[in-house]
Amino acid sequence: MSEGNMSYGKLSETKLPENKLTETKRPSAEKVGAVAVVGGTHGNELTGIFTVKHWQKNQLFLQYPEFQIEFLLANQAAIKDNKRYLEHDLNRCFKQSDLQDSDKKNREQVLAKQINQQLGPKGDSRVDFIVDLHTSTAKMQTNIVLITMDEFHLKLAAYLKSELPDVVITSETQLMDDHHFLCSIAPKGIVIEVGPTPQGSLDGIIFEKTNLALRKTLEFVNLYNQGTLPELGEELEVMSYFSKLYFPTDSAEEICATVHPELIGNDYSKISAGTPIFKDFFGEDILYEGADAHVAFVNEAAYYDQKIAMCLCNPLSYSLTTLQPLDSEKSSAKNEH
Ligand SMILES: [Zn+2]
Repeated sequence: MSEGNMSYGKLSETKLPENKLTETKRPSAEKVGAVAVVGGTHGNELTGIFTVKHWQKNQLFLQYPEFQIEFLLANQAAIKDNKRYLEHDLNRCFKQSDLQDSDKKNREQVLAKQINQQLGPKGDSRVDFIVDLHTSTAKMQTNIVLITMDEFHLKLAAYLKSELPDVVITSETQLMDDHHFLCSIAPKGIVIEVGPTPQGSLDGIIFEKTNLALRKTLEFVNLYNQGTLPELGEELEVMSYFSKLYFPTDSAEEICATVHPELIGNDYSKISAGTPIFKDFFGEDILYEGADAHVAFVNEAAYYDQKIAMCLCNPLSYSLTTLQPLDSEKSSAKNEH
């Protein structure tokens, strides 16, 4: 919304008819003009950090001249220390209420406010679209995390799913309105979170998958801006989170069981009442007691600080026409196949 206004002004001076003004107007606000690609929101997730550095050094963004791309290494101090965060998880600091709270002043809370000024501010953001690169130690594959379910995000997800072999779409939308992720600063934002890979190291396959997902995302932005999206089908399956399972703990509140070995590496598999989910330190199975669910972030290393053993989600199908979830009866019947 900057340079274009000049020609707009000149047109006004020459007093062209109203309809001419409309025709020469810059792309509508709906189009994506500025993209921020972010790595190092978690300082020990090296794939995103080195992807950002690689793209900057080699000016790979020049391959996408139709819109602006900028890069950010979000938590430099944590990157230096090879830690997820120093005092507070940065990717939990971007609720509007927290950004405006002057009492929130630990290192990451202050950093969040700076990043909000740099890319945002949230609610009136300079940047249109934020792509935040993460990794998981769990076998989450090419996990595209959505926090907004509108036409742009659902179609982007459908596009990535159609273009790449191992994309799984997950959604946190059920959990909060004012989201705490960094990518929530802009009106459009996703997390690309690929796994499994250990923290603090690079894995060639994970690096390649991340870069492919980033490229396909930027490719989508072009198609979206030009109004030339391909046919993306009728429905999109999104794994929607609804709960978490915590590790069993003893009287000292210390973890006293491992995730059950049969669940490791089986992210997105289904568990039902009676499925062994933990093995206690004496070797006894601990069985799941809840309603049918699918597991994700199984044994995720980053969640041990909160003693979270896995997250629970279930598939929900969205219509790509109405952009609404299809009725749950139909979804669950379909999932029996
Ligand atoms: Zn992360």
